[in-house]
Order: sequence, then C-alpha cells, then structure tokens
Amino acid sequence: MKITFLGTTGSLMTENRTFPSLLINNDLFLDCGEGCTQKLLRLKAIDTINIICITHLHGDHFSGLFSLLWHYWLSNRTKDLTIIGPPHTKATTEKIFTLLNVPGGFGAFNFNIRFNELHDTNEIQEFKGDYTIKSAKMDHAIIAFAYRIEKNNNSVCYSGDTRPIPHLVKLAENCEVFICESTLPDKYSKFADEYGHSTPTDAVKMARDANSQKLVLVHLYPLFAKKVVKSIKNLKEIFNKEIVIPDDLDTLEIHND
Ligand SMILES: [Zn+2]
Ligand SMILES: [Zn+2]
Repeated sequence: MKITFLGTTGSLMTENRTFPSLLINNDLFLDCGEGCTQKLLRLKAIDTINIICITHLHGDHFSGLFSLLWHYWLSNRTKDLTIIGPPHTKATTEKIFTLLNVPGGFGAFNFNIRFNELHDTNEIQEFKGDYTIKSAKMDHAIIAFAYRIEKNNNSVCYSGDTRPIPHLVKLAENCEVFICESTLPDKYSKFADEYGHSTPTDAVKMARDANSQKLVLVHLYPLFAKKVVKSIKNLKEIFNKEIVIPDDLDTLEIHND
C-alpha cells in the first residue's frame, strides 16, 4: 500500500503546503482539500480515483472537491465515482456544484456519483469493496469521522480533525500507519480542546495506546508547525517508534502482502 500526502497543512494554506488530502495507492482519496486536483494531475492519478472519503465538511477538508468535479465534468470522465462522507455530504456537494453555474448542475456528468453518507452513530461503520473502509465518529467542532483503510494485510488510519478520543484509538488499533492531526503544540492545548483539535502529545498517546507501528503528524497549524517539529524528540518518550511529519507530495509505503 502506498500513501501519498498531497496536502498536509492545518487550517491555513502556505506557500509550500495545501489543504488536507491523501492518496492511497492510485485509486482511493482521503479528504479533498483545495489544491488536490493539480497535484493529482501531476501524479497522473486524476482518472484512477474511484473512491473519495471526506472526514468532515469544513472548507479545508472538502473545498477541493469542486475543482475536481469541475475537472471531471470538462474532461468528460465516464468512470463512476463513490463519495463517502458525513451526513449532508450529498446535498452540500450538489448545492455548491450548482452554485458554480455548471450548465445542468449535477446532471452535467457523464458518470454516476454514488454517495454513501455515514450515520451519526458511535458504532464503527464498514464498507467492503477493493478496500475495507472502516469509519468512526470523532469529536470536532462539527460532525466528523476518521477512516481506517485496509487491503491485503495493510492498514492505515487517518483521524481527520478531532480532539483525542477513545474511538480513534479503537479504530487505529494495531494499524501500520496512524495519520493523526496535530494542529496545535502542547503549549496551546487549551485552544486545541476549545476548537476540537489534538496536540502532538495527544497524538503520540493515541498511537501508543493503539499500538500502531508508525505515527504521521499532519494538519499542523503553520504558525506553530516548527514548534511541533522540534518536539519530536520529547514525543519519543511516549511513543518510541517512528514519527514522521511529511511535506506535500511525500510518500510512504507499507508492504505486508
Ligand atoms: Zn482542518
Ligand atoms: Zn475541521
């Protein structure tokens, strides 16, 4: 399984980092932050995407969906697409796409979009296909979900945005790669809690409790990102395995097949 980090910033875009989006192999997409369409084109993965999983409907996590759908409309995509997301993903997507003044609105596509909206429940929800996709509700400012993607004994868990929560530890249990948001440094944990986010210490504790093999920290708020990078040495006292802070377009490979 190959993970490509298309966008890694938290909340604010920077010169070098665009909004959250991750590519699994070349066909599954996690979050759809602005900037993803151009990066998918660069990776020649634009037409191979089959499934898009959206964690929540904050602009930084799904604003890129509209340039992607715009591209699919004008490039005459014919392959069907599945979008998994929180409640109201379908209505919100259709409404915004219609506001873009595409003639015919959502009827303009030459392919079908199947929306699988997650239920507002604390139970883990599961979809089976080429991948096993598991999802758990998180604890954020708005309804949000984390995803666990499994294929051929490989597993990766992605938090989206959340306060630290036992459901995320459960979802990430024994996964090879745990990708966790780490928006604010520990010094600002009060604000992280107030706005529904995690700190690096929250992330390493969840990685340790989940017994994940590797921790990837993403969604670092740009103003404090350097502080988080500097804190890695101390974080190893809690989680003594590999901790990675990727740049946009970095990749990670897991091989357990
Ligand atoms: Zn966010
Ligand atoms: Zn958010």
